[in-house]
Amino acid sequence: MFSVLRNLGWFFRREKKRYAIGLILLIVAGVLELLPPRLLGNAIDDIVSGSITASSLMKYIGMIVLMLLIIYWITYIWMHKLFGGSNLVERLLRSRFMNHLMTMTPSFFERNRTGDLMARATNDIRAVSATVGFGMLTLVDSTIFLTVVLLAMGFLVSWKLTLAAVLPLPLIAIAMIFYGKAIHDRYSLAQDAFGDMNDQVLESVSGIRVIRAYVQERHDEKRFSDITEDVYHKNMAVARVDSFFEPTIRLCVGLSYIIALTYGIYLVFRNQITLGDLVSFNMYLGMIVWPMFAIGELINIMQRGGASLERIDETLNSKPDVQDIAQPVSVAEPATIEMKDVTFRYPSSTIDNLSGVCFSLTQGQTLGVVGRTGSGKSTLLKQLLHEYPTGQGEILISDVPIGQIALDQLHSWMGYVPQEQILFSKSVRENIQFGHHGASDDRIMDAITAAAFQNDLGTLSDGLDTLVGERGVSLSGGQKQRVSISRAFIANPDILILDDALSAVDARTEAKIIENIREERAGKTTLISTHRLSAIEHADLIVVLDNGQITERGTHQELLDMNGWYREQFDRQQVENNLTNE
Ligand code: ATP
Ligand code: MG
Repeated sequence: MFSVLRNLGWFFRREKKRYAIGLILLIVAGVLELLPPRLLGNAIDDIVSGSITASSLMKYIGMIVLMLLIIYWITYIWMHKLFGGSNLVERLLRSRFMNHLMTMTPSFFERNRTGDLMARATNDIRAVSATVGFGMLTLVDSTIFLTVVLLAMGFLVSWKLTLAAVLPLPLIAIAMIFYGKAIHDRYSLAQDAFGDMNDQVLESVSGIRVIRAYVQERHDEKRFSDITEDVYHKNMAVARVDSFFEPTIRLCVGLSYIIALTYGIYLVFRNQITLGDLVSFNMYLGMIVWPMFAIGELINIMQRGGASLERIDETLNSKPDVQDIAQPVSVAEPATIEMKDVTFRYPSSTIDNLSGVCFSLTQGQTLGVVGRTGSGKSTLLKQLLHEYPTGQGEILISDVPIGQIALDQLHSWMGYVPQEQILFSKSVRENIQFGHHGASDDRIMDAITAAAFQNDLGTLSDGLDTLVGERGVSLSGGQKQRVSISRAFIANPDILILDDALSAVDARTEAKIIENIREERAGKTTLISTHRLSAIEHADLIVVLDNGQITERGTHQELLDMNGWYREQFDRQQVENNLTNE
């Protein structure tokens, strides 16, 4: 049950001082609170025996007031320490979580859905933070404080009465073990369901245009109401157990009171304890009500925290499937790129998505990758980013296998414009500066000109400062592509990878950009995949892919002479061009 505390050991060790001060003061406050009831009991006995005087009464009152003031300050400090720990662990875990996500490779995000990850980063982390704050409070109150009060009852009043009054306590213990297990299981299910729901919300909101266009609102509502229903039932299952805690404890507390009162009065009549003793004892009994409830709270919080921490740790413990090797080989510059018989399949795929791919490029050359849709063009280009574990064969950069090059170094050479544009909800300027932090407006304008975006920029309301909306929704497809290209240009990478990056621009704009690429990238390597052959006519090497295999290769002219797929495609596109030009 307390495994959550063990698993959070790193945090408690790190915050030793905070918890030492917090917990000691919490105990001191508890002990001090024991004195006023005893003082009151003594005062009553003095009254009963007639020995009370004005000055001794003032003394009693003075001591009680003093005690309250001290308790006030001590409580303030321990609260501050303990609940400060809550906020701290929340911050620590969250940044750890985020940093971890940053190191993860695409296959991790294929397995884990965003909504669920978000649920872990918010809800679950909050449950853990409750564990180290309120959870620690209940831990101390239900154990140490309870024991201290019981000892006070025994030593300051009567052992016989104390023992009788705590008879119902074991009942609580048994019930709590039982409920605790149920809470853990049910709460885990509820959190999982909450993650699913989050995911559904995310998907519906981001897909709202498609949902509307296909008039699927009702259907989506139904799907959502089903899932909220599921979350509701699972949370209700937690609540049903939750609701047992309080009545169970009330019942036991009630029993304690009945026993204490009947047996206490009996003892007073038999003159074994005084009336003052009984009053003190009753006040102590009042003081153990909270610790008894704290037992319930403790179980509840520890189980929830444990279940949540398991979910968080599950994410934190997942290893990226591509990791830096211990001793990477340092490569000065990517002088050559070579693939030797590369065969690759995605972790979730059942067939080879690339097979037997060979080619080599020297610095400054351009590779064109063409082939029908789904033939493996993107897959081939992504191999150079080393996002997935490498398959068979060798991918060499400057004759060093890609697996032996530090990922940071590898990525620092690459300017990658993916097929799916990724823009951030920032201004155009910031989106482009992503390629080169702090780039001046002059440089940005150069990159924009090279990407043939300057005319569009004039039509945007605030020029470079125009906000592109979430994921760039306020730009057209072609504009998004060109902002992405500008971003890659400004990085001036050694290797530029354009994955179908010109698909949404018209032929004339494409020609302009290609011309700029040829000029600007003289002496640097460029890889382009495309459906429009005009974009790679100038390439030093063109490979045609089909089903992950290279079926044709050569320069534009060589491929035309081959009379194969390339020739056929070229002729068809020529005809289309002529038609549009007319
Ligand atoms: P397009 O011209 O449409 O962009 P492409 O030639 O770029 O197509 P790829 O994206 O490389 O094609 O996909 C090649 C094959 O790999 C496809 O059959 C696809 O289903 C599969 N594939 C792509 N990405 C993944 C993935 N993440 N997991 C599993 N299979 C994938
Ligand atoms: Mg593709």
